[in-house]
Order: sequence, then structure tokens, then C-alpha cells
Amino acid sequence: MEEIKKQDVKAFAYFDQINKEKLAASHDGGWRCGILTTNMSECINGVLKGAHRLPVSALVEITLERTVHYFRVQAIKGKKMLQNNQLWTDFACKMFISWQQKAVEHTVTKYSHAQQSASVVTRRQNRHGMNTHVVKIANRECSCGKWNQFGIPCSHAKKVCGAYNISAASMVKDYYDLMAYNNTYSKHFEPVQSEDYWDDPNFQLVHDPTIRTVTRPGRNQNNTHS
Ligand SMILES: [Zn+2]
Repeated sequence: MEEIKKQDVKAFAYFDQINKEKLAASHDGGWRCGILTTNMSECINGVLKGAHRLPVSALVEITLERTVHYFRVQAIKGKKMLQNNQLWTDFACKMFISWQQKAVEHTVTKYSHAQQSASVVTRRQNRHGMNTHVVKIANRECSCGKWNQFGIPCSHAKKVCGAYNISAASMVKDYYDLMAYNNTYSKHFEPVQSEDYWDDPNFQLVHDPTIRTVTRPGRNQNNTHS
């Protein structure tokens, strides 16, 4: 916030009046995982790309068609990951290994065995590094915030796990587990018959051209995700 204040006082005043719990993942106490929420909405946006402006019936059809396709593709991916003997999804595996490699360069000082706490100093690389982070394994937290944000022990947490002889792999959130992933995408959809077999709706759709939106030159703001 101090950095924003230096850049623009008006912007600072705007952000300052907003509840910080809603503004930043670092202030929400871990209740809402910002990354997951964003990914979920981006995922839906990605699947329905280009469908926002279609008539209702076409929108429903394309939503079903693309969702069925998406589930089939993810189910195939899930099977491949299982065949590769992976414990978690590709994303989690990649992040876990990358942080494991980074942990080698950290220096750890143990503090409390009860809290399994320690300070971790990162190695200076170019002009970065030489930071000190505080890890409390018993609380599943690191001051860098990444563990809480991603649900995967960060490089600092991994270093401390090693010092206390604890398995960092056992602390990866279970929603990355391949069994959970495959369980999600193993569900199936029922094919839909032609319109002649649908139940009669108890209302009539009326086309009213007067309520069509007026198009303006330039990029439409409603199409930011399409
Ligand atoms: Zn950390």
C-alpha cells in the first residue's frame, strides 16, 4: 500500500477504503484462495470463449457441447498422469519439484521443535535473494505466503521439513491428488435428443428487436475475456 501511495495518492485513497480481506489474498486469512477462484472463472471463460453473444438456445447447446468435450479431454489427461505414476496433477508436480530444487540453496536455523519452526535465509542471486522467511510447519505456514496460496509447501517450508525429518509431500493439499482429479472428470453426461423430444416449456419466447444492444466503434468492453 505504501508503494501505491508513493505512486498515486488518489489510488491509495480508493484502495484504502476497501476492506483489505476482499482486496488481497495476503489479508484474507487463508479462507479464500485467490488463485483457485481466479483459475476457476478463467477456466469457464476459456471453455465458453466466443459464446457470450449467442442466442439463448445456441448458448445452452454450445455450453453442453464444450463442457462434454472438456471433461473428455481432462479424463484422458488424468489417465495419462496415472500411467506416469504421478501422485498429483502436472501443475502440482512441476511446482513441487521446482521448489524442491530451490530449497537446496537455502540455509535453515531451527527454533522450536514443538512448532517445528525455523528461519530460512535464501541465497543471493544477482540482486535478489538474501531474504529471511519464518516457517512454522505445525501451523502449515511460511511468511512468504506461497504455501498458503498454492496449498503446496514452498521451497522454505521444504527446507524446514528436511531439517525436522518431515515428509513435505504429505502436506500437499489433497485437491491436487490424482484420485480426486480423476474422480471429478470420470462423471458422464447424458446425450440430448432432438428438440421434438423436449418437454414443452410453460412460457413463450418473444423476440423483441428493440432491446438489442447498440454496437459502438472500437472494442466492446463486455468482450474482455473472449
Ligand atoms: Zn515460503
